[in-house]
Amino acid sequence: MQKPMVKAALAGVLIVVAIVAVCVSTKAGGPKKLKRVERFLMCSRPQCAAISAKQVRINDKPPFECPKCSHQSAYLLVVCEKCGAYVPMTKPVLEDNHCPSCGGHAFTPPRFNPLQPPPEGAETGQGSRP
Ligand SMILES: [Zn+2]
Ligand SMILES: [Zn+2]
Repeated sequence: MQKPMVKAALAGVLIVVAIVAVCVSTKAGGPKKLKRVERFLMCSRPQCAAISAKQVRINDKPPFECPKCSHQSAYLLVVCEKCGAYVPMTKPVLEDNHCPSCGGHAFTPPRFNPLQPPPEGAETGQGSRP
């Protein structure tokens, strides 16, 4: 049987440990230690529209440099749920939230690597079967 005092003390210790852990991880999380994630990017320049994959840090904000045209014009790639178009998530697209090709309002992250054809029998969401 634990007394309520003990429980309260334990809870207090846990909270302190949690705070310390957060502080330590924040301090240790310098530019070098930030986790990198792979993101698919698309160039927002219509004459380029290159799709690329890039290792970005969690807190990196677009635009990123397009590897094809070297402009700071690459944004996160999203897929229009209505027409399946690849759309660079630029600020106007984000704010108006509509697809430039069909005017759809829903976007999802790509379900498969947009740089490669989908694997055989993959769920593409296009409903290719008649
Ligand atoms: Zn480009
Ligand atoms: Zn669309």
